[in-house]
Amino acid sequence: MLEKLKETLSKTRKLFTPIEQLFSRGQSQEEILDELFELLILADVGVATSQKIINDLKEKTRKSRQSDLKALLKQELIEILAARPSAVNETFPAVWLLVGVNGGGKTTSAAKLAYKYQSQGRKVMLAAADTFRAAAQEQLALWGKKLNLPVIQGQPGADPASVVYDALQSFQAKNYDLLIIDTAGRLHTYANLMAELEKIKKVISREIPEAPQEILLVLDSTIGQNAIVQAREFNRFSGLTGVFLTKLDGTARGGSVLAVVEELQLPIKFVGLGETEKDIMEFEPEAFVEALLS
Ligand code: GDP
Repeated sequence: MLEKLKETLSKTRKLFTPIEQLFSRGQSQEEILDELFELLILADVGVATSQKIINDLKEKTRKSRQSDLKALLKQELIEILAARPSAVNETFPAVWLLVGVNGGGKTTSAAKLAYKYQSQGRKVMLAAADTFRAAAQEQLALWGKKLNLPVIQGQPGADPASVVYDALQSFQAKNYDLLIIDTAGRLHTYANLMAELEKIKKVISREIPEAPQEILLVLDSTIGQNAIVQAREFNRFSGLTGVFLTKLDGTARGGSVLAVVEELQLPIKFVGLGETEKDIMEFEPEAFVEALLS
């Protein structure tokens, strides 16, 4: 797993290489920390999070006799990433909702999750609640065919909440384990979109009070710090349980993971590592940091 993660993160790792080298140059601690700050910014960690890392490291070196800055940095990054638990709520039957802007990878991520849990013997159903884009529905239907699992769809332009209602009926009647709902990523305004998502959530919890068990924000890691801006908009929608961070394979901006967790106070639960249904991994802070700085 670590090898796969290292390979996936190869572009991001290039930006972390100078950070590793920094520790073996025999400079003073102060010089190292100054330079580290700049390198973290270049690695897309973001100003606020980089500043926090430097402040914490200063504190840690002052308090402890530990002078191995690299070990302290690793520990610090793990602490930031683990501050919000990444454990997935795997009580079944479950309804999971995927939200996020178009193009971020929602549909593909829905298929990846479906494949993952289907492989574990779960009966999985998909629902296409983006009735505004025919292409989104078609794409999910194609995944359904490929993975051989049912996809509930509505008529183009139908009320998304009514599609969700239909899906819930079928899900319960057929005793499925997991219903994954793909939602619209764009309406005329964010306020409309948030209202739409709230409505969907209400329909779900009216039918199954403990659901949705997971509401995952699907974020594209290749847009770096802009992911934070996007996520802030979606944080206005209540009840996000975590992030599905996509496209970590092609990007040099993997450092933004730290800013996502630190600034949004949301755990990363899954990462996307490619375009096929198999390219999914549960997020583990230790493994991620080990892959970046080993
Ligand atoms: P949606 O509009 O949010 O539903 O996004 P899609 O699921 O249609 O994904 C948009 C594009 O991103 C597609 O070309 C996907 O194949 C691609 N994509 C999604 N996830 C990943 C990933 O983890 N890695 C890579 N390399 N591409 C991805």
